Amino acid sequence: MIITGSIAELRAARWAEREPSWGLVPTMGYLHQGHLSLAAAAKKANDRVGASIFVNPMQFAPSEDLTTYPRDLDRDFKLLEEAGVDLLFVPENEQIYPPGFQTTVTVADISRPLEGSTRPTHFQGVTTVVAKLFNIFQPDRAYFGQKDAQQTAVLRRMVADLNFNLEMVICPTVREEDGLAMSSRNAYLSTEARNAAPVLYQALSAAAAAVAAGERDGSKLRQLMTSLIAAEPLARIDYVSVADGLTLEEIETVAGEVLLSTAVYFDKTRLIDNIPLPAPG
Ligand code: AMP
Repeated sequence: MIITGSIAELRAARWAEREPSWGLVPTMGYLHQGHLSLAAAAKKANDRVGASIFVNPMQFAPSEDLTTYPRDLDRDFKLLEEAGVDLLFVPENEQIYPPGFQTTVTVADISRPLEGSTRPTHFQGVTTVVAKLFNIFQPDRAYFGQKDAQQTAVLRRMVADLNFNLEMVICPTVREEDGLAMSSRNAYLSTEARNAAPVLYQALSAAAAAVAAGERDGSKLRQLMTSLIAAEPLARIDYVSVADGLTLEEIETVAGEVLLSTAVYFDKTRLIDNIPLPAPG
């Protein structure tokens, strides 16, 4: 595995051979099985796999956890090497945001609800850095996790709107045995909070089961999730949502594709999770 922080070196390695197809797995590091599932999917479908580790300052608000975000590069290098990654990009901030940097990418409407309502500058940071990574790597396929459902929707929109010549591949959420979605931020949880955290998936699963049993009322589904999560004393709800699967706007009645999602604080740690549902019937 070639590891570099230099864009020029990265490009030289990426274009050393013209023929092979490349899959790209962008990450912020502190890797877990969720990240590795993306690398495995990329390995299967491409001749070469690229990955990146960059804790992107632009997607963190000043009040958020940029400085404390967990890091363990040596372990990450080992895991990516074992996963068969060929080329790893680990840039310093100055490579990505050189002095004078002033160009950003904004996806308007779909960035605003859900995560965007609590983190209004977050997706501009994500789309700007991912657009840069796409330009730097020029992958044939790019791999993202369903865990960050709105991120995938925002990035799909960006890829379509800006004509990036690549295929977006969205991989299922990888979970711990008790249902908790794997996340680098789970490392922040106290033992008590870790034991309580599966309540997100339990609430989402209960709402999914209610839809399967015929419930179509968006408010009732939001109430059901709210009551289940609120019963956990350590949990503080940021939002529960029953949204249109395409626009991500809240819905009154379940008719087409739906995204059930929630964001919940345990102390200062904010966890998100979701279940996408196909159109009923
Ligand atoms: P991050 O390092 O948190 O920015 O995540 C990098 C990529 O891994 C994103 O596309 C995430 O959606 C994806 N990812 C994170 N957690 C999971 C998970 N539990 N299952 C599947 N993909 C994940």
